[in-house]
Amino acid sequence: MPAKPAFEVRHSDTAGHGVFATRAIKAGEFVLQLTGEKLPSAQVGPQHFAVKVDQDLWLCSLGGRTDDYLNHHCRPNLGFTRGNVRLYALRDIAAGQELSFDYATAMFEVNGWHFTCACRARHCRKRVGGFETLSPAQKRRLHDRCLAYIKRANKA
Ligand SMILES: [Zn+2]
Repeated sequence: MPAKPAFEVRHSDTAGHGVFATRAIKAGEFVLQLTGEKLPSAQVGPQHFAVKVDQDLWLCSLGGRTDDYLNHHCRPNLGFTRGNVRLYALRDIAAGQELSFDYATAMFEVNGWHFTCACRARHCRKRVGGFETLSPAQKRRLHDRCLAYIKRANKA
């Protein structure tokens, strides 16, 4: 029997919609995978929900996919701990908690891209941009949960 999904899309107080745990999730557990059409940078448009997954490769969606509703958080509970587009639990997550990842761990060399964060984490960065906008200390802290191409660039 297929496992029941551990999450669902619901309305979020902070950011419109969000993805929430429907059961307890253990630290280290695989939770969900980013999905979408694979497009090179030149074909990504303003109509897309897009995540940069390699140097010139984006996962793009026109909306409506569960992972389109995953919000950013400055102290997220999911991360790309294996470097691929699968998100794993960074700690134990209780049923009902919102799932999130740090958008900087999937955004690199995006000219001027940023947004104002209201995640209410104690160390909220407020202005969240791509990985290259982080301080050296922040880069070190996020390194282990970044997509592989960012890890490679961060080491260089
Ligand atoms: Zn924040």
